[in-house]
Amino acid sequence: MAEGVRPEKCVVAVDGPSGSGKSTVSRRLAAAVDGVYLDTGAMYRAVTWAVLQAGADLADPDSIAKIALETELSIGTDPAAPHFAANGINVDAPIRGAEVTAAVSAVAAVPSVRKHLVALQQAIIVGHPRIVVEGRDIASVVAPDADLKIYLTASSAARAQRRSAENASDVAATEADLTRRDTLDSSRAADPLRQATDAVEVDTTGMGIDEVVAYVLRLLNSKVSS
Ligand code: C5P
Repeated sequence: MAEGVRPEKCVVAVDGPSGSGKSTVSRRLAAAVDGVYLDTGAMYRAVTWAVLQAGADLADPDSIAKIALETELSIGTDPAAPHFAANGINVDAPIRGAEVTAAVSAVAAVPSVRKHLVALQQAIIVGHPRIVVEGRDIASVVAPDADLKIYLTASSAARAQRRSAENASDVAATEADLTRRDTLDSSRAADPLRQATDAVEVDTTGMGIDEVVAYVLRLLNSKVSS
């Protein structure tokens, strides 16, 4: 399947650790199949922003859950411009900031927050014939029947290099932050980051973005008809 070729229906799950290239690859894939893009990490980030705005105690799962359930999310799925709002306020910039990044794994570890956001994610998936969904638990929990499941990885040094180039941040500090989040995300009890047994692992360490996208589109082509 080349870019611009459109299967009738497809759900593609893209999981992997922070900085593995999930967002860039997922947006390109969604555009290539003329579909939509769902950034589930941005949903956890938007809820985290609301939790911080409310001044809730990050060690108190009940208050976190209450705020998460009360937060009205507007979830953009256009791969060219996926805008997010929480309680009517655009949060595209603050959800990428250091404060939200430092707190998001704690919020995402609360089981009722996950239950709520997974239900929203599943409703969005049902409403779109072609969708690429990125996160940590998409293949295992959110869309276990996805047509294609990709697990993107890259060496920790490569992931830190990419992320620090995006954010103009220090490479060593970025690598420490990615490692901290990956440890929290993989060790939590509820829906931890883990490669699904039927996911195809793609190590992007030495690969360019075009190469990764072309490879995944070929995999998709072998799974769904256009
Ligand atoms: O992908 P991104 O780095 O924006 O995700 C932010 C955080 O949201 C992750 O570190 C993880 O704690 C959480 N997350 C999750 N499940 C998902 C997507 C993201 O727990 N499906």
